[in-house]
Order: sequence, then structure tokens, then C-alpha cells
Amino acid sequence: MDTQRILQLEQISKLLEPNPEQRQYWYDTMGNFAHSFVDHLTISKAYRPIRHVPGSFVMDDKATGIEELLEYLQDNMLSQGLNPASGGHLGYIPGGGLYAGALGDFFAAICNQYAGIYFGGPGAVKMENELIRWMCRLMDYPESSHGNLTSGGSIANLIAIVTARESRQLKSSEITSSCIYLTHQVHHCIHKAIRISGLSEAVIRIIDMDDNFCMNASMLEQTVLKDIQNGLKPFMIIASAGTTDTGAVDHIEAIADISDKYSIWFHIDAAYGGFFKMVDDPVALKFSAMGRSDSLAIDPHKGLFLSYGLGAVLIKDVKSMYAAHYYKAAYMQDSLHSQDELSPCDLSPELTKHFRGLRMWLALKIHGEQPFKDCLLEKILLCRYFYEKAQEMGFRMGPYPELSVCIYRYENTDADHQVFNQKIVEYVVSKGRIFVSSTLIDGLFWIRIAVLSFRTHLREIDMYIDDLKEALEIVKSLK
Ligand SMILES: *Cc1c(COP(=O)(O)O)cnc(C)c1O
Repeated sequence: MDTQRILQLEQISKLLEPNPEQRQYWYDTMGNFAHSFVDHLTISKAYRPIRHVPGSFVMDDKATGIEELLEYLQDNMLSQGLNPASGGHLGYIPGGGLYAGALGDFFAAICNQYAGIYFGGPGAVKMENELIRWMCRLMDYPESSHGNLTSGGSIANLIAIVTARESRQLKSSEITSSCIYLTHQVHHCIHKAIRISGLSEAVIRIIDMDDNFCMNASMLEQTVLKDIQNGLKPFMIIASAGTTDTGAVDHIEAIADISDKYSIWFHIDAAYGGFFKMVDDPVALKFSAMGRSDSLAIDPHKGLFLSYGLGAVLIKDVKSMYAAHYYKAAYMQDSLHSQDELSPCDLSPELTKHFRGLRMWLALKIHGEQPFKDCLLEKILLCRYFYEKAQEMGFRMGPYPELSVCIYRYENTDADHQVFNQKIVEYVVSKGRIFVSSTLIDGLFWIRIAVLSFRTHLREIDMYIDDLKEALEIVKSLK
């Protein structure tokens, strides 16, 4: 075969490997762009109105210089919508996106370690497994437990639910008589996971809540007993340790007693709240019985302030987790599953996966644990501070914040309460320094803040209080 054509192609292929000068130039240009972005965060807005720009991001096939591309990103991506990196982001569940974590991602992509199989990337897999063991210890899970670093809480909850199904060896004919216990306040991804895992036909029992939106444990036990009397099979209890709507932490200890007594799989969704167990404060006691669950979900891209794309599931019954997710493919016969370390690919639906552990490892190792603990406690105190201020302003407050979420609504007005409160949110968001969201609970409209970005400090909360005062005056004067 004539090699001339191959060599011709090689010349063009090699454009994909920039030479050292080119590489340095791209790196510096991108680095300057990123640093300028971070440096301007305290003065840039948390929200900008969405502009419909026809044709933006439509792909063509030409090569473009990096300056032009960064300008394009500035105009079409960074200048509209929510800015999740901003400390003014108090909506949904923020996190921020630590710089050290971003550096971890950068190098994970550069070295492209294979973090799916121990044989392929022993260092990367060992690192991820140690991070999982660190979280297991944090949650008082025994040494024999394991887990998986997922893309987020949704997949973490899904893996736990699939494992519970496997552990109980549920046959399809048994699903319609198997009961799942949860409250109206579970995250919607739980319902998605139940559907995806083929459990839609299970009996879903919605357990009443107390005034703080926590599962009523005695109602839970009564419901379980009634189900047993009726020949049904209690299968799984799903509690929340920090609900998304109000930050409520279910009574873990009382629920664990019931799960033990009736041998029911106990799963906790701690995607938002789990890392508050780290803080040096009595708040951590709310999480003291976490180790009594069978599985739990926890999100480092929330409570450890890392950028999006990092959740975790922890599971005690590793055998069932493995049984539900492993696969031996002929083309992978060389990778003979190692005895030393379990491979992520045998514990999740993913095979090739992002080496997402590096961002978490680098951030935790560079900073050490203490700043994380103190930053989390600061968030709790900021939320309590806000609660008092909003109360002074005449808002009707929801439950006293258990963690760092607070809900409130204004009712001292003849106007329709929902419309009035909606206008307050719209005013604050249109001003754009602060982004807040709202929620509906039992048909009531509540304004809501979640303080969890590592960049949110007293300054941002005071800014919000000022904007809220202004919003109240403006909306009152509308009529
Ligand atoms: C955010 C959240 C989820 C979903 O997690 P993702 O990371 O968005 O997939 C699940 N449960 C709770 C309580 C959450 O706050």
C-alpha cells in the first residue's frame, strides 16, 4: 500500500495536537478569560434576562480563532440567564463551583485517565474509591460499604433504588404488592427513579408530615402495620435529609427503628443536606443516625461546592449493588475484575465515565476539610440571619430553617397573595443582583432561598434584604 496518502492525512490530523506555543497561547487566553470571569463575580449579576438570539450556537464546519470564540461565549452564554457561579444565586440548590475543582477537571481531561475499570486506571479508580470510603466514614457506614461517584443526585437515587430491588429479589409479579413509603416532599427524581427502575406498579404510600414537613414516623408505622395486615409487603422507605423545598430533615432515628423492626430497605436522599453532618455544630446531630440506613444519596456538587456533575451513592449491601450493575463483556476479558478494588463500571450503569473524582480530591486536599465545615456552618447562620430579618419585615415565615433553606410569603396585603408574592420574586430577579426561586406547598406560593454557594456571604444576604424591601414598596404601590 502506498503510504503517501496516509502521510498526507497525518499532516492534517496533527492539527489536533497543538504545538507548545499554540498550546501555551490557548491556555493563557482561556486562563485570562476564566480569571476575569471570577474576578468580576462580585459585581456581575446573578441573573440576566434571556435574549433569543437567532442562530446562536448553530454549528458550521469552519475553524475559528480562540479570541473570537471566547467573545462569542461572552455574548451568547455568559450574558444571559442564571449565573450559577455567582454568590447572589440563592435559588434552587446552588453550590458555586470551586476553582480547585475546576483545575481537577482540567487535568482529568488532559490525562484522560480511565476511571471506569480498575485494570484500566488503577490510580483513578483507587482515588475515587477512597473518596467513597471517606464519605462512608462521614456517614458512619461500615468498612464493608461502598458506592459510586455519579453525575448527580438523580442517578445516585436511581442506583440505590435499583439495588434495593435487587437486594429484595423482587419479581415482577411481586411489585404490585410491594409498598414504598415516602412523603410529598421527596425530590421528584425519586419518582423518576421508581418509574425507570420498573417499580411504577408498586404501592406508593404518601406518609403525612408534621408542621416542619418531616415524615410523621408514627403514621409511617401505622401504615406499615396496616399493609402487613392486608397481605402487602413493605419494601422500601425513602426519607430525606434536607428536602429541597424547605431543608427539612426527616427523623432518621425513628424511621430507622421502624425499618429495623419490619426489615424494610431504608434509603435516605441527602443530596442537598448530607454534608451538613460535617459541621462543628449541634446541627450535625440531626444526621447522627444516617449510618442506620441501607443506602443514601449525597451531592458533592451541592454541599462541597464543586461544579455540576458530581453526586454520590453509598450502599451497605455491596453484593446486591454489584449484582444489579455488573456485566462481563467478551471484549473486556483482559480486565478480569480485580480483587483489590471494585470498579465503578460494576456498580453503576456507566462504563466509560468522566474521571469526576479528581475535582473532589484536589479541592479537599488543597483546602483541607476545615474550610468546608466552616463554610457550611456560615451558610446555616446566614439563613437564620435572613429568617429574622424577613420576619421583621412582616413576612409570614415557614418553619424555622433546619439547614440553609428558608420559605416565606407576604400576607399583609389585600392583593391576591400568590400574585403579590410572585411579583416580589419577579422584581428581585429582574433587578438581577440576586436570584431567588419560589415553590408551591399544598397549593400555597412561597418565596424560597437556599444558601449554599460558597460565595454567598453576609454581603449577598444584606443585598437581598435591601432588594426585598425595595420590592415590597414597589409591589405595594402597583395596585
Ligand atoms: C438536587 C437534589 C436531587 C437531585 O440531584 P441532581 O444532582 O440534581 O441530580 C435529589 N434530591 C434532593 C434532595 C436534591 O436537593
